[in-house]
Amino acid sequence: MPENFMKNKILVTGGAGYLGSHTCIALHEAGYDIAVYDNLSNSSREAINRVSTLIGQKIEFIEGDIRDAELLRQVFASHEFFGVIHFAGLKAVGESVVKPLLYYNNNVGGTIILLEVMAEYDVKSLVFSSSATVYGDPDTLPIDESSKRFCTNPYGQSKLAIEYILEDLAKADNSWNLIALRYFNPIGAHSSGQIGEDPNGIPNNLMPYISQVAVGKLEKLSIFGNDYPTVDGTGVRDFIHVTDLAQGHVAALDYLEQQISSNKINISKKKSVGFLPINLGTGGGTSVLELVNAFTEVTGRDISYQFTDRRLGDIASCYADIDKAKFLLGWKAKLSIHDMCQDSWRWQILNPNGYD
Ligand code: NAD
Ligand code: UDP
Repeated sequence: MPENFMKNKILVTGGAGYLGSHTCIALHEAGYDIAVYDNLSNSSREAINRVSTLIGQKIEFIEGDIRDAELLRQVFASHEFFGVIHFAGLKAVGESVVKPLLYYNNNVGGTIILLEVMAEYDVKSLVFSSSATVYGDPDTLPIDESSKRFCTNPYGQSKLAIEYILEDLAKADNSWNLIALRYFNPIGAHSSGQIGEDPNGIPNNLMPYISQVAVGKLEKLSIFGNDYPTVDGTGVRDFIHVTDLAQGHVAALDYLEQQISSNKINISKKKSVGFLPINLGTGGGTSVLELVNAFTEVTGRDISYQFTDRRLGDIASCYADIDKAKFLLGWKAKLSIHDMCQDSWRWQILNPNGYD
């Protein structure tokens, strides 16, 4: 790529968070110019500083809420965005059950406001952070994008509601280009160990819990259920390295750019992307016990664990059919479970208290 070549400008909502910060690096490396918009409700300015250091350039950062239409208008009026990658949202399933209005207001209400402002400024390309949670308990494995969608908790319902909104929008106005990336289980951290997942309090998710046991912050992992119909009785998930996931966003944006420019050239066949859901996973499943053992193998740290009852709402197994990402985006995950453990551990050991 020529030295001063810059691709289009992208607004990254929620870009200070776990997935957003890694994606900012991947976007920058791919030549995209980015601005991050985040209210820091679940992230820290330090993540932005570290991303700036890693890319050797100060990131443009706007502290703001996606529900603040006036601020969003100012941001859109002062930039020429090609599109938006929309990570901003609350993501704790348990909290969503206790505070459903907060989740619907923030995730669904915020996305509607963002889309309204995008429409005002004629920015019609969006990559949205959806989740494999929209599939609920799947009838068949691997899960492809045409599988039925069904959720039982407000977090999942907020993701599903946004997908329906995007679908309706694409039906009503064919100038929208909307990709919903359905993430499976992102884990791992940047290979530098400088950015990673920084949960508040006791982690709800498996990998941060394992690393905090390994570093001695937590005593023992509870493995929720060992009587599932799986390889060893523990739950099976499609863990994907956050760096691969970040690359998936670059591939999705590249795809939108290509589609839009080829449609402009060939006006007679003008057709927008519409609403396009795509799985981002590795296509393979790993059990909870297999992940614990891989972590020990890679790091040399024993993880004490105990089996406890199943966690309410958990399913036995979940892994992605990844053909659509492969064929449409030319994207495939490259990093292994060992890479995921190694990088999670490097982040944990270098930052025992996260960004604090
Ligand atoms: P995160 O909490 O680390 O990042 C989300 C970011 O959005 C945070 O920086 C937070 O401050 C910001 N934010 C929240 N509400 C906002 C608002 N109203 N206005 C502006 N900023 C706001 O979470 P993450 O793990 O990086 O996840 C990113 C997205 O991907 C979320 O939408 C999440 O639901 C989705 N997702 C995550 C996972 C996962 O396992 N991490 C899986 C599937 C889907
Ligand atoms: N899990 C566990 N103990 C924990 C956290 C998670 O046994 O402390 C299991 C959980 O039951 C599931 C898998 O690990 O089978 C992944 O859970 P996580 O919360 O990381 O992601 P989810 O698939 O629920 O989105």
